[in-house]
Amino acid sequence: MSGINIFEDALDRLKLIAEEAGINAEVVEALSHPEALIKAALPVRMDDGSMRYFRGYRCRYNSILGPTKGGLRFHPQVTIEEVQALALWMSIKCALVGLPFGGAKGGVEVDPKTLSPMELERLSRAYVRAMADFIGPKVDIPAPDVYTNERIMGWMLDEYEAIKRIRAPSVITGKPVRLGGSLGREAATGRGAFLCIQELAEREGWTPSEKRVAIQGFGNAGYHVARLLQEAGYCIVALSDSKGGIYSEGGFDIESIWHHKRTESAMRGVYCEHTVCELVEHEQIDNEALLALDVDILIPAALEGVITVKNAKRIRASYIVEIANGPILSAAEPILEKAGVMVVPDVLANAGGVTVSYFEWVQNRSGYAWTLEEVNQRLEEVMSKAFNEVWTIAKSEQRSLRSAAYIHAVRRIGEAVSAHGTREYFASS
Ligand code: GLU
Repeated sequence: MSGINIFEDALDRLKLIAEEAGINAEVVEALSHPEALIKAALPVRMDDGSMRYFRGYRCRYNSILGPTKGGLRFHPQVTIEEVQALALWMSIKCALVGLPFGGAKGGVEVDPKTLSPMELERLSRAYVRAMADFIGPKVDIPAPDVYTNERIMGWMLDEYEAIKRIRAPSVITGKPVRLGGSLGREAATGRGAFLCIQELAEREGWTPSEKRVAIQGFGNAGYHVARLLQEAGYCIVALSDSKGGIYSEGGFDIESIWHHKRTESAMRGVYCEHTVCELVEHEQIDNEALLALDVDILIPAALEGVITVKNAKRIRASYIVEIANGPILSAAEPILEKAGVMVVPDVLANAGGVTVSYFEWVQNRSGYAWTLEEVNQRLEEVMSKAFNEVWTIAKSEQRSLRSAAYIHAVRRIGEAVSAHGTREYFASS
């Protein structure tokens, strides 16, 4: 990561956009402070008998629109600043797509791939023991994020229910379907991004087979967007993961690469230990080279802060679709804008995940499960509406898609803040 304070960077970006759009200062102020933040030491008995303490965080950022919602990541570089930035983005994302949720995020500073499956289970349960009074079906609802998955959500649900002595599937989303998860949740982030690309194709008037795509990050979301794009006729020429990347002029078969990455992990049960780099028949490239490839669409689908002032000049793609949260630092944005690169921002492009999380929460609360077709159809409705609203603001107010998305979301949050009265109201009464 870049070494800059990502939370300050996120706040600066929000303030700049809000100022340009003339958003009420009280609304911006309300979004400049996380509502609640918890930091805990998570004790885990390791397999060798030793005791280790991991740093865990959860931030409920803003709840004016409803209970807070957001993922939980396990990553060695998790910091309290990062968790707050991600929680702020969740507040904007939920408001943007019209969900009755505020934003939240959690994280544990750990390299989960160094833990055994049993250590990982103990860590997941320790997280819930520390957070059990901070989360809740009507308060704050976690979900998967980087290096957490449905199995981990299942352990966490089990721990929560054991502590509270109730069945409460709606306390967490992204669970295994048999434990109350929603059909379509696993593919939802990738599908949401794919739907945005389809909306873009319609407006920009291109046909899929003309477009070459590079994807940085081949985890769950990266795989599903790649699969759906390939099915629609796009050519995926580059893919990477944390260990490196591969390039193929003629494109590759996504299913076989995914199959390769997954075969061993099925045995280990929790993480995929294999990398795309093992596919020796393809040319190897590193992550930096992938970002600079001569492609039409670049999809950063890994971590934040990967596109910086240093490498932004080298980007040759015409479109960037942000599946990762915050992959472009705010200082790099003007460079891309000047070069005419159109960015579909994270708060829109990756909103499919939290949207189907919302559907999961609704299904859990009503006790009635939807079919996959229903889930996908409703996801399409939400994404298409949100994309259209953002596009309309961008065109009518001559703004980037990111500014338009932020303005739309912050106006919605602003209406809720103003409903309680702002300075203008109280000063005049
Ligand atoms: N972690 C995902 C995100 O960043 C999903 C959050 C959720 O489903 O609550 O949007």
